[in-house]
Amino acid sequence: MKIRGWSAKAARQKLVAFDYAPGPLGADEVEVAVEHCGLCHSDLSIINNEWGMSRYPVVPGHENIGRVVALGANAKGLKQGQRVGVGWYAGSCMHCRQCLSGDQHLCAESVATIIGHHGGFAERVRAHWAWAVPLPEGVDFTSAGPLLCGITVFNPLARFGVKPTHRVGVVGIGGLGHMAIKFAAAWGCEVTALTSTAAKKKEAMGFGAHHVVSSSHSSAIRAIGGSLDFLLVTVNVNLDWGAMVGTLGPKGRMHVVGAVPEPIPVHAFDLIGAQRSVSGSPTGAPAEIATMLDFAARHSIAPQVEHFPMRKVNDALAHLEAGKARYRVVLDADF
Ligand code: NAP
Repeated sequence: MKIRGWSAKAARQKLVAFDYAPGPLGADEVEVAVEHCGLCHSDLSIINNEWGMSRYPVVPGHENIGRVVALGANAKGLKQGQRVGVGWYAGSCMHCRQCLSGDQHLCAESVATIIGHHGGFAERVRAHWAWAVPLPEGVDFTSAGPLLCGITVFNPLARFGVKPTHRVGVVGIGGLGHMAIKFAAAWGCEVTALTSTAAKKKEAMGFGAHHVVSSSHSSAIRAIGGSLDFLLVTVNVNLDWGAMVGTLGPKGRMHVVGAVPEPIPVHAFDLIGAQRSVSGSPTGAPAEIATMLDFAARHSIAPQVEHFPMRKVNDALAHLEAGKARYRVVLDADF
C-alpha cells in the first residue's frame, strides 16, 4: 500500500507529488484519512529548514482533520470512521515522568508529525492513538485544523493563570494571533492586539480585540507601558523587546510562542523591580487539546480560514510567505 502526498525534497524547494509506503501500522497507531489540513508558518519553517531540524523528504501538515480508517491492535478510545485531529505531535513515549504527568507534549521522545515522520499534506497520516483527538460536536471540521495549533495560544491562558479580569496583549495577528485574540476575548479579558499591519485593525476588533496598537513603532508600544498583565508573542521576527516588556504592569508576563529568530534581550531590572517574567511554551497535551476544542465549541470559536485544494499547495505556501493569509490557509485533500 502507498500513500500519496506532497513533499519537499530539500530546503527552499517547491513541494512535489510524492508516494511512500508507510509499512505496517504500529500496534499503538491509528491511520487517519486526511480531509483538511491547515498550513502553519511552522510548515514553511520546516520546509525551508530554518530551524536546522528538518529531515527530507518533508511531508508537511500538522493541523490534520480526518477520519480514522485503521486501528493498531492496542489502539484505544477511538472507532473506525471517527473524526479526529492530529496536530504537531504524532506520538510520545507514554512512560516517562512528563507523559505520566499529563504533559505528553513535554516528552523528550515526542514525535513531531512533520519531522522524521510524514505529515498530512497527504491522503493519510498516522499517529499514536492518544494523539488523535476526537472532534467534539459543535466544531466545524472543515475549519478546525488550525485549532490544533491554536492550542499553542490557548494553553498559555489556561496554564499561566490568566484571569478574566486581566488585560492581555497579543503580538502578531496571523494564524496563531487571530486565534489568540478570540480565545482571550472569550476568556473574558480586555484584549489589545499589536500588529505591524494597520489594515488588520478592523478585523482584529471583529475577533474581539478592544484596542489595536502598532507593533512596529516603539513609541506606540511605549504609549501603553505598564498596562498589560499578559503579553502573548506570536511573531517570528525581532521586535523592540524592551518596549514590549515595558507594556507589562507589576507581576506581568511576556509569553513567547512564536519562533523569534534571535535571542530576546531583556534587562534584569525590567524584570526585577516590577516582578515581571518572560516564558515560553510549545503546543499542548492531548487532554488540553480536547479541553480547548470543547471551549471552542462552547464559545463558537472558529479560525478564519481560506481554502485551497491540496494540489495547489505551492500557491498556498506562496500566499502564506507573502503575508497574505487571512488568517489561516486550510488545504482540502483532493487525491
Ligand atoms: P503567521 O500566520 O505567518 O503569522 C505571523 C504574524 O507575525 C504575521 O501575521 C504578522 O502579524 C507578524 N509579522 C510577520 N512579519 C512581521 C514583521 N516583519 N514585523 C512585525 N510583525 C510581523 O504565522 P503563525 O502560523 O501564526 O506562526 C507564528 C509563529 O509561531 C511561527 O514562528 C511558528 O513557527 C510559531 N509556532 C509555534 C508553536 C509553538 O509550539 N510554540 C506552534 C505553532 C506555531 P501582523 O501583520 O499582525 O504584524
